[in-house]
Amino acid sequence: MRHSSFFWLLVPFLVAGCSPERPQYASFDDYPVPNSPIEELTYSPKSSIFRVWSPAADSAKLRLYGQGLGGESLRTIAMKWKPDGLWQTEEKGDLGGQFYTFSIYQDGQWMEETPGIFAKAVGVNGKRGAIIRLSETDPAGWENDRKPEFQNLADAIVYEMHWRDFTISETSGLKNRGKFLSLTESGASNTDGLASGIEHLKELGVTHIHILPSYDYSTVDESRPDSAQYNWGYDPLNYNVPEGSYSTNAIDPACRIREFKEMVMACHKAGIRVVLDVVYNHTVDIEGSGFHRTAPGYFHRKREDGTWGDASGCSNETASERPMMRKFMLESVAYWMKEYHIDGFRFDLMGIHDLETMQQIQEMASQIDPNVLIYGEGWAAEAPQYPTEQLAMKANTHRLTGIAAFCDEMRDGLRGPFSDDEQPAFLAAIPGHEQSIRFGIVGCIDHPEVDMSRVNYSDTAWTREPQQMISYVSCHDDMCLVDRLKASIPQLRKVGSKGLSRTQQDLLIRLNKLAQTAVFTSQGIPFLFAGEEVLRDKQGVHNSYNSPDAINAIDWRLKAKNLSVFEYYRSLIAMRKAHKAFRMGSADLVRQAVRFLQTPDCVVAYTIDGSVVNDPWGQIVVVLNANPRPVSVNLPKGNYTVVCRDGRINLNGMGKQKGGKVLVAAQSALILHQ
Ligand code: CA
Repeated sequence: MRHSSFFWLLVPFLVAGCSPERPQYASFDDYPVPNSPIEELTYSPKSSIFRVWSPAADSAKLRLYGQGLGGESLRTIAMKWKPDGLWQTEEKGDLGGQFYTFSIYQDGQWMEETPGIFAKAVGVNGKRGAIIRLSETDPAGWENDRKPEFQNLADAIVYEMHWRDFTISETSGLKNRGKFLSLTESGASNTDGLASGIEHLKELGVTHIHILPSYDYSTVDESRPDSAQYNWGYDPLNYNVPEGSYSTNAIDPACRIREFKEMVMACHKAGIRVVLDVVYNHTVDIEGSGFHRTAPGYFHRKREDGTWGDASGCSNETASERPMMRKFMLESVAYWMKEYHIDGFRFDLMGIHDLETMQQIQEMASQIDPNVLIYGEGWAAEAPQYPTEQLAMKANTHRLTGIAAFCDEMRDGLRGPFSDDEQPAFLAAIPGHEQSIRFGIVGCIDHPEVDMSRVNYSDTAWTREPQQMISYVSCHDDMCLVDRLKASIPQLRKVGSKGLSRTQQDLLIRLNKLAQTAVFTSQGIPFLFAGEEVLRDKQGVHNSYNSPDAINAIDWRLKAKNLSVFEYYRSLIAMRKAHKAFRMGSADLVRQAVRFLQTPDCVVAYTIDGSVVNDPWGQIVVVLNANPRPVSVNLPKGNYTVVCRDGRINLNGMGKQKGGKVLVAAQSALILHQ
């Protein structure tokens, strides 16, 4: 998209403070972009240098404050124009403890104050940058922090959690509920004496936690820490600073940074890597964003008619293809990896970003950590203002290397579409979804035994390697699995005043386990929404982005109540970790080793030749039966050991089975090996 050129005719020729030799730019493409990293503040006790990138500004001011919010500014300083589109000023003396903002004058008006786009520390609510020494935020032992061993992207098992969902309930037994520090509590146990917090995650065996937006976002008022406010946080304000409401003191700019690092270090010690949910695709709004307040119009896309693009559905979309936006994203990702030791990134609405930017990010990030985990949503809320073939949409995932995308084919093949909570699919024994599930099982690669004409949404395979697929049945952004089953499965929709009957509860559990067995035996990367393993619900709320804790908090008494479900999930994870046959990490090997069996409707069954990856289990058979009755499946000849049957798993074996005709219990998985 080209922006409207009339904009530039309005640029005043000479304004007070404007350097006469300064060039005028005919378009955004002409804006100079510095080669050096974006350093908006270089602080030492002797002096502080401030810089703001604002090529088309006619004037720029720095304001210094004694506090992070409120009060008059201590001083206002005119900044000087430098080449590379930067405005700069150096202030002598020790400004440590003070706060700052930038204001630019452009198109005949002063823009609102902003801490810029790359503030590394901010005051409460993120309105002003904070002048601190970052090295003083390092917790004791930070220099010895080491990432847990992790060799292959296919080995990842991701647990998606929101701070408040996971820890705010008193039943969690945690002290720092709703805070980063909650995960630093070793030995944590819930009110029933079962592991909670980080101990729960260790017990479950996940390799990565994916934390919902934890950079500074806008909607929660950090100045009211005692009020129970909830938001997912997809309203970014300062991309390079942790969110204040998850710290124990949002007023102290160093506190959130130190506590975030303590959290990462505790996770690493527990063997868990940390994935940050990053939302570069849009800003909280246009006028309030540091991007727009420093370089108006540059960072956001417009439609041909001159109105703002809105591919995010949140009033705007950013322009990753513009050199400074691309540079910003690259440097922001690198910063989180180096300063905070972050191990991976989940890109919100990745389909809004261009392929080139995403690939550059992956290449840069893998220089820092060869095993960095990068994935995203390969879609957008509406068509972005950029050519589709150049966007990181799901269909283009095969053109990326080392980046995965969420698979909605299997997700919806299992439980029904995002757009209709009540519409069921495979789990309700509705035939026609088997090929979509096959597609998910092989990791969305091109496979001769997947009939793409019968896969939902996609006509062709969209990954090159199976670990480019995120395998899941639920995430924060929708009903959780329990609610979805209650909404869509006819036998679960009529609930008496005392809740589900025993038969209904049994059915709910059977279908829940069956769904996750498909997810965890897929060759893609399995992804679990926090609390599914204890049958959490959200009282039927689909979009709970700002629902109260009463909806979103996990009640940890559910763990004792549904311990057998937790044990099933734990065993699925242990099975996957122990058996490379479920995570081969190579499309060629999957094509060679995975064969589907002829089965009745609403059954997906396949064999894996584990010998191609030297799996000790050798020949493995997986049968997923969604029918409300037992079905007979014809297994290849041989003598098998059963490890999963009728809702129970025992990796050491739970009986023998001969090949040939085998009865598989209703709404359950059967897994055996030779
Ligand atoms: Ca905030």
